[in-house]
Amino acid sequence: MQQPGIRRRVSSAYAAVDWDQAACQDSDLMWFPAEDGHGVRQAVRDCKAVCDDCPIRIDCLRFALIASEHGIWGGTTHKERQQHRHKLRALVGLLPVPRKAAA
Ligand code: SF4
Repeated sequence: MQQPGIRRRVSSAYAAVDWDQAACQDSDLMWFPAEDGHGVRQAVRDCKAVCDDCPIRIDCLRFALIASEHGIWGGTTHKERQQHRHKLRALVGLLPVPRKAAA
């Protein structure tokens, strides 16, 4: 169970995104694929291609990082967000940009 402060933060992060602009809103692709399984790699590629053209990609990614969501958000899989959490949080403005990346 999430603490009330975390729930409020997630809910406010969700409300901050203009989901009406989401390129995936009418998509029937597999946005919450299992980690492995038949057709998953192609499904991930297809979803990421939609995200590439989405006008709210960064906002979507920021929400997913705050909410620790599963599935594909902002052109990334859950595993990628876990593996590159620090870098992605800096990218969406949740952390200061590392000096190396800012140079
Ligand atoms: S970035 Fe991808 S998952 Fe997020 S709203 Fe856009 S299309 Fe959907």
